[in-house]
Amino acid sequence: MIKIAALPGDGIGQEVVPEALKVLRAMDLHFQFIELEAGYDCWNRRGENLPGETISAMQECKAALMGPFTTPVDEKNYKSTVVKIRKTFDLFANVRPAKSRLGLDCIARNADFVIVRENTEGLYAGIEWRTRHGACALRVITVRSSERIARVAFELANTRKKKVTIVHKANILKESDGLFRETCLKISRDYPDIKVEEELVDAAAMRLVASADSFDVLVTTNLYGDILSDLAAQVVGGIGLAPSASVGDEYAAFAPVHGSAPDIAGKEIANPIASILSAKMMLDYLGYGREARRLNKAVERVLAEAKVRTPDLGGTSRTSQLGDGIVKELSRND
Ligand code: NAD
Repeated sequence: MIKIAALPGDGIGQEVVPEALKVLRAMDLHFQFIELEAGYDCWNRRGENLPGETISAMQECKAALMGPFTTPVDEKNYKSTVVKIRKTFDLFANVRPAKSRLGLDCIARNADFVIVRENTEGLYAGIEWRTRHGACALRVITVRSSERIARVAFELANTRKKKVTIVHKANILKESDGLFRETCLKISRDYPDIKVEEELVDAAAMRLVASADSFDVLVTTNLYGDILSDLAAQVVGGIGLAPSASVGDEYAAFAPVHGSAPDIAGKEIANPIASILSAKMMLDYLGYGREARRLNKAVERVLAEAKVRTPDLGGTSRTSQLGDGIVKELSRND
């Protein structure tokens, strides 16, 4: 039995993660799911958002399948659960694929690219303070983190269309983005077969809308990657479809790109596909490539058929009906 930590988290996480678990259970893969508490709701009940027992239990598992975690803007002393998890397990690479799918009304028709985002530093290093007349935040860029995120991007491109776009703003931020850019270019020399290009982050945002199909792998710093990946999700059909993996040397956690969506939480209309495709990424990570392809095919067929769709995709189905549709399609594939 392979132990998987399941952290549904907050808001719609409680609705979409169970659908991903349902789909995995239907695949009969000898996984044991260990359901664990974390997030804002946990903090309200227990006074901590990432209890020690959750961390210990996660350490006993091969990987984690997570939902989103609410981070309230007004709670000054509250630190983001997901950022804590990334730091605790040193999950330095956030890998966010974006792919156009048949049957969806979206901006980019033929896009298939991956944003590789540095996950532990940059402007999310968490070093900020108020001054007498304003506030300051420290943007931390290190050679080590830039090197390892660049390697993830180049290794990934090696298995794909062999192109990496380094996204930065080194024309203005000459030291921090300058170091990130130089380091990525240095690592690129170890990958002579991979085409390297670079783009300023604002221009990259424009190109993601204008010609997303021209990208393969984008590598960038924490905040740029966070913003660009929501944009990328919308360009290929919506945030309800966007999966992600946070990967380190020893551990990985898989979660939808979206947040806890308080506006629709509890209504059972959230799209579970981002969570289900995150489970697909976890299958790949655990070495279940064939099963991952089978799950991906089932999702693609359900989307192309357009019979079961949640409201974000223009349908009227409930979260669990979309999950059921994918389970049914899996059994048809057998
Ligand atoms: P959000 O992603 O939760 O929601 C943005 C919009 O997308 C909303 O209109 C929402 O209804 C819609 N949406 C999101 N997921 C959907 C789905 N699966 N199906 C259909 N529609 C969906 O972003 P937000 O409103 O800015 O953030 C809400 C909370 O989530 C905040 O507390 C934020 O800190 C947190 N958040 C957490 C994570 C994470 O844990 N990884 C990521 C982003 C935001």
